[in-house]
Amino acid sequence: MSGLAGCDVCLAGILSFRRNESDFNVMNPTASHPKILPATPESIRLASQALRAGKLVGLPTETVYGLAARGDQPDTVAKIFAAKQRPATNPLILHVGDPSAVRALVVIDSEITRRRFEAASSLWPGPLTLVLPRSESVLDCVTAGGDTVAVRVPAHPVALQLLREVSLPIAAPSANVSNYVSPTRPEHVIDGLEHSIEWVLDGGICDVGLESTVLSIANPNAPPTILREGVVSVAKLESLLGENVVSATTPHSAALNASPDTPAASPGMHRKHYSPRTPLRLVPEQNRHPCSRSPDDSKRVLRIQLRGPAKPIAGYADVWSLSPSGVPLEIANRLYETLRRADSGEFDQIEVDQLVTIDWSPDCNPNLLAAISDRLCRAANQDDVPADH
Ligand code: AMP
Ligand code: MG
Repeated sequence: MSGLAGCDVCLAGILSFRRNESDFNVMNPTASHPKILPATPESIRLASQALRAGKLVGLPTETVYGLAARGDQPDTVAKIFAAKQRPATNPLILHVGDPSAVRALVVIDSEITRRRFEAASSLWPGPLTLVLPRSESVLDCVTAGGDTVAVRVPAHPVALQLLREVSLPIAAPSANVSNYVSPTRPEHVIDGLEHSIEWVLDGGICDVGLESTVLSIANPNAPPTILREGVVSVAKLESLLGENVVSATTPHSAALNASPDTPAASPGMHRKHYSPRTPLRLVPEQNRHPCSRSPDDSKRVLRIQLRGPAKPIAGYADVWSLSPSGVPLEIANRLYETLRRADSGEFDQIEVDQLVTIDWSPDCNPNLLAAISDRLCRAANQDDVPADH
């Protein structure tokens, strides 16, 4: 085993993981753009008014920045799909500021579902999305016509303040153009969506940096099922729910291979997603030679290591490390920002360590590792099996 320090085992790790307070720039924004507002009470009020008036707002959450609009009106929901160029088959998550506000959006008509909901929602506010049967008040365009709705109470204090102030269900998918890398800083929202949004509230760098875990408890006759891996571990869910929790997300392949325009078993979980424009491939950690490259090739290849100190490697234009000390929460936290930086046009090719070729400490959260691997595979449009080179 690699003996990595600081591996996280449960949700509690998230909240203690913050590189330092200055990274969380709620009152002292570092970003400068006229549409990026420091998250003061006045700007939260402005953002709330904009949302109520049907505008789009960039919303900081502890997972990634959301593209928020009121989720109770078809025309505001349509603005999200248009801005993101998101297929109408990909349903949206509704966000509210309080677990009790979820009750109006869902139908809980069995004792099993009620018990599961009570247990799982004890992780709210937090990076967990629950899928439940939808109530009549939920719009078809939100659920992509399905019988269920995804709901979440995010943990970011700015998101909570805004959601409580606006007091409406807010649809908020990640604030990126579809299939591009999710945003973890306010400037990332500006990057693709500057002309669609009214404001972005500056909530600093997202604590988790990967999308929420999606758990379906819609069917009382089936076990609770993870539809998208995130930072919440199965062990944590099982201890809360007192029953087995299964994952529909592994292996990363069959069900996920549908094209972006067709409904998938787990909607939205398409194979190519979260991708930089620069070609990206996953390579074994041990392979330290740029792939498919002849000696006279002038391609600039960037190597991104998941762990360990970054040192120059012959043949690579540059070498970056996501977490010199190999902490999965840090890898997750830096992944999207690093992919965006790598995609600035400086490099012709990106090579990233394959997570499965690394010997992780047994106390690492396996679901977080699966989430990182999943996002990397989608960024590369490649399975996480060692390539034979
Ligand atoms: P995003 O908000 O962009 O991170 O994506 C939201 C994801 O949540 C979708 O891609 C789906 O995978 C999932 N989701 C939303 N609503 C549902 C639902 N009703 N049933 C299953 N999955 C859902
Ligand atoms: Mg997304």
